[in-house]
Amino acid sequence: MANQTGAIVQQSLNALMGDSSFLPQIQDQRREQVFQSLAAILSTPNKVHKAFLRIALDNGNVERIPAFRIQHNDALGPYKGGIRFHESVNEDEVTNLAALMTLKNALHEVPFGGGKGGVVVNPRSYSEKELYSICKKYVQYFSDVLGPDKDIPAPDMGTGDREMDWMMAEYKSINPGSPYLGSFTGKSIVSGGSLGRREATGKGVYFTFRYMMHDFLNENIGWLSGSTNIFAETALAYKDKPLSLAVQGFGNVGSVTAMEAYKCTALRGKVVAVSDRNVTLYNEEGLDIPSLVEYAATHRGDLPSTDGELHEIGVSAAVLDREDVLYLNVDVLFLAALEDQIRGDNVGQINARMIVEGANAPITGDADEALASSGAIIIPDILANAGGVIVSYFEWLQGRETQFYTEEEVYKQLFAKMQKTMNGILPAYFGDPLSLRQNCFVHAVTKLSTVLYRQGKLY
Ligand code: GLU
Repeated sequence: MANQTGAIVQQSLNALMGDSSFLPQIQDQRREQVFQSLAAILSTPNKVHKAFLRIALDNGNVERIPAFRIQHNDALGPYKGGIRFHESVNEDEVTNLAALMTLKNALHEVPFGGGKGGVVVNPRSYSEKELYSICKKYVQYFSDVLGPDKDIPAPDMGTGDREMDWMMAEYKSINPGSPYLGSFTGKSIVSGGSLGRREATGKGVYFTFRYMMHDFLNENIGWLSGSTNIFAETALAYKDKPLSLAVQGFGNVGSVTAMEAYKCTALRGKVVAVSDRNVTLYNEEGLDIPSLVEYAATHRGDLPSTDGELHEIGVSAAVLDREDVLYLNVDVLFLAALEDQIRGDNVGQINARMIVEGANAPITGDADEALASSGAIIIPDILANAGGVIVSYFEWLQGRETQFYTEEEVYKQLFAKMQKTMNGILPAYFGDPLSLRQNCFVHAVTKLSTVLYRQGKLY
């Protein structure tokens, strides 16, 4: 996966190099030099920080836990990106995710660079006290490189507002007298978090899909109906049809996405399947999402996994294997679990013609190409799941001002920002042969390249 982002960045650079309207004043050998310089900057992180956190376990043993903070690029502002707690975390993965943050922020005009953190732990195997000490140690080890104007972490897989509150408190005690509200985002409301931050990623994920398939299609139906573009054909084939939707992952992103889809009146869609780390639940008539959300909230985030548990809450669904969600005969698949879910070896079994990436990097490069060349619409991670970092930016702003927005204001600004990005991308997407991912990358790389050039960095 590590090279996947790099490969698409390189493709985007090649496209830009051949585009005579991009930096027209730079020609010939100098142009080659500039693009080489760009490739070198964007393909490697600025800094890699690694530590082994020393943690005293409840049983008295001491463990050394590998942890990373990778700062990819800060051309557009302080480094920004989540910290994930997962047993499979490794340097390559965190580096790739940090690069995706640089591109995501550039794409949506969020004035931040890109970074990512990771700790190699399965948070479910540690007590609350042990997790507290992991969070404190993380800030202690990396305190020199973190801060509201240097690098601002946020939640990611396996972390949430509890961890951000602990980390901000530790940052505050290490840096007495310094501003601290903007040091971490994704905090709880009482600790200076933003209303709507928890739901922001899932809401944004569904918004991108609804906006494309409803608002944008309706407003542009005139020229789109005459288009021979393969992606426009796919979109038009599903316009005004009742859609079946499946959601992989029922955490912070998937459960909110499923709820948004369930409530949506603009599209005639039915959520027929949801899944988590244990099961897939399927009902072709549509699932009772509110009851499942309520169940998960009181069962450590897990869905009911037996007929008995489903019966108790009055939900009717077939219980399938957790992987089955990927292969159902549905129109739309939301991937809101882990990375590398659709790969070369299983892409042939995917039936959905529209896929939305709620998670980061859930489709590998080879699978992505196979799907896109068949005309499948893939709304990529950097476009679809940016709601989290966009509202993180609002949280950071609110922390500076110590003035807080209403929930309504947060969502209004979030959707306006995502809509603006989409309006800048979708007309090109439905009119050229590039995939939506390639279009988004070209857009983000253009922004980064222009700034780097203007600032004299491309020598
Ligand atoms: N971890 C989230 C992401 O991958 C949010 C990052 C943030 O809010 O800084 O986009």
